[in-house]
Amino acid sequence: MEAAGAGAQRRARPVYKASAAGTRGCFHERVREENGMNIIIGGLLQESNTFSEASSAMRDFEQYYFRTGSQLLEPQKAENELAGFIKAAADHPEMTLLPTVFAQAVSSGKIPRRTFDELKRLLAERLAGLPACDGVLFTLHGAWVAEDNDDADGEIVELLRLHVGPDVPIVITLDSHANVTRKLVETVDGIVGYRTFPHTDYVPTGYRAAELLRRIVRGEAKPHIRLCKVPMIVPAERHETARGPMAELWEEALAGEREGRCAMTSLFLVQPWLDIAEMGCSVVVMDDDPAKAEEEAGRLAASMWSKRKQFDIRLYGVEEMVVMLEEQRGRGGPVVVSDSADSPGAGSPGDSNFVLRELLRLKTHHRWNCLLSIVDPGAARAAAEAGEGRTVRLQVGHSVSRAYGEPLAIEGVVAKVGSGKFRFGGGTVAGLEANMGRCAVVQIGTVSVLLMENATFTGDPAMYRSVGLEPADADLVLVKSAAQFRAEYELLTDRIYILDTPGASTANLTGLPFRHIPRPMYPFDSFD
Ligand SMILES: [Zn+2]
Repeated sequence: MEAAGAGAQRRARPVYKASAAGTRGCFHERVREENGMNIIIGGLLQESNTFSEASSAMRDFEQYYFRTGSQLLEPQKAENELAGFIKAAADHPEMTLLPTVFAQAVSSGKIPRRTFDELKRLLAERLAGLPACDGVLFTLHGAWVAEDNDDADGEIVELLRLHVGPDVPIVITLDSHANVTRKLVETVDGIVGYRTFPHTDYVPTGYRAAELLRRIVRGEAKPHIRLCKVPMIVPAERHETARGPMAELWEEALAGEREGRCAMTSLFLVQPWLDIAEMGCSVVVMDDDPAKAEEEAGRLAASMWSKRKQFDIRLYGVEEMVVMLEEQRGRGGPVVVSDSADSPGAGSPGDSNFVLRELLRLKTHHRWNCLLSIVDPGAARAAAEAGEGRTVRLQVGHSVSRAYGEPLAIEGVVAKVGSGKFRFGGGTVAGLEANMGRCAVVQIGTVSVLLMENATFTGDPAMYRSVGLEPADADLVLVKSAAQFRAEYELLTDRIYILDTPGASTANLTGLPFRHIPRPMYPFDSFD
């Protein structure tokens, strides 16, 4: 799959005649309508946290989201970018989608080379079996780090570029937490990022990318991409786009598009747990006129920089929360606290017992109805095997994140053994099925601890409900998520707090051992 060969193959491509209706979607046939376009589609997504000791294997992708070949085009419940590609192709019958692979896993530490190479091999194998194409639509996260390459996403686009050659346009979609690199910008023809956090616009992002690619293939657009890196990283808890500094920035960016300052803007507040050399927030602007793109990128980057201090957040101690429960006794709705330092969505293992340890120390288990979750395969299996109604003594927590705490000895009653599976109920990942593996609820007085084998997104009340626990009826509910949990939990309560806890995805960024990021960088250096 050398570039020259692939390019030559493209130029020599025969012109296919229009054929009977119904050929659209027959991706396996080298047949398409007149003026039609063959579009390769696929996606490989994972977010890395270089401070996390968690690791991922093929199994993690297979369990979370994994489709190959024609499976990509089958009806499915997940509302992801792929659904946006398919919707665009339905609206534009000239687009014929050539599916490769679409795989996603929960965030983790750096991806092991072995797992990454296996994913690349699957993609290369699928690409090799496809006919010549007119364009590529590919979904990446953009903050993917391999154990031996800080720019894993760049490695994927390189593979795509080698396959299709220099002349075929590639448009990628990225999570708005991406760390946009020079290699990405130099290798692709279009970059389209999410515009929401909590992320709710996977489908529109896929659709916009497909629209852009369609216009490039038809010769109606030839965008130049301008990347402006901004030397700042800010807590993910304040990345939300509905209010605060990001809402203002998006207003400015969309006004720029409306006023014709550029064709399309993407704003990337990088997720802050990447200790790598090309780290930083980014503004990516596209326009057919490079000077306009340059000017708009500079304008928005300056605005982002000026707002850097507005992203600071206040963190709370567990003890403060317990005092508040006492003071606000009788108020409706739970207090929802986030141990975002241990968020599986941010690459942490989800195995911290810090909050449980604190609640037991503060004797909360005689007083408040609390719901907690801890990933611990050994303890989850032992509790599930003991069975409901049995008393168990277990060591729980920190089986992976040994740098951030030690196992805690607990004694409790197994209140429920669950199936481990639940379906996300709302918004952001609606329809996707989560798999906790073996799981059980261990009751310690009034504290319910959900032990599970696998890390999953903890910010949907459906997780607790799947094991018979109702967050709306609890006094205190623990989630491990920076902001994504707000989509569902804000429907239950207005008392939501981020905790100051140890962990690889802490919001206390200056407490993490950054060594490789470029300096100066906010908030590590003074710019005043
Ligand atoms: Zn994200």
